[in-house]
Amino acid sequence: MRIVLLGPPGAGKGTQAARVCDAHGLVHLSTGDLLRAAVSAGSDLGREARAYMDAGNLVPDSLVLALVRERLNEQDADGGFLLDGFPRNVAQAEALDQDLGAEGIERVVNMQLEDEDIVRRLLARGRKDDTEAVIRNRLKVFRAETAPLIAHYEAKGLLQTVDAEGSMDEVFDRVQGLLANGARASS
Ligand code: AMP
Repeated sequence: MRIVLLGPPGAGKGTQAARVCDAHGLVHLSTGDLLRAAVSAGSDLGREARAYMDAGNLVPDSLVLALVRERLNEQDADGGFLLDGFPRNVAQAEALDQDLGAEGIERVVNMQLEDEDIVRRLLARGRKDDTEAVIRNRLKVFRAETAPLIAHYEAKGLLQTVDAEGSMDEVFDRVQGLLANGARASS
């Protein structure tokens, strides 16, 4: 299976992504995790990405695409993968579509959460880039750049939306229900 997991920051993408990958034997590709690892390692890419991440802005597409391409070229990705936090804008989605060619994305799971729940969850999480000002900016960036992907994938008949409010287990059950259902175009 080749899955994209979409949703605002704080929707619980990382947690659900890990569980879905475990359950289905997929490679979990989180661009946020890859970028944080590059920052920790002090690589050139990490040094370049850092200021964008600290401000809650998107890291330039060229850097992110290089990371994604490197990971998807590894052999284990042939068995299926889940993209978590990527694509984040229409340009990234189009680059991905081109890279994958005929063997494109099969499922897009869109995790939906109200704004007040997003802010509450992010503040509770307390990651370094989860200060209130940065959270507000990440939400703005999500609406302006990432939310248009909902229409992008809807137009391809791939979008399935899941309510991301509730416990980890409740949300996981909903996601599993969607994935078990063969219909690609339902929402
Ligand atoms: P995340 O862990 O997905 O919330 O990502 C943390 C930060 O990494 C984001 O606020 C962005 O600065 C950066 N980032 C992660 N994924 C991407 C992406 N696909 N494109 C651009 N920036 C990204």
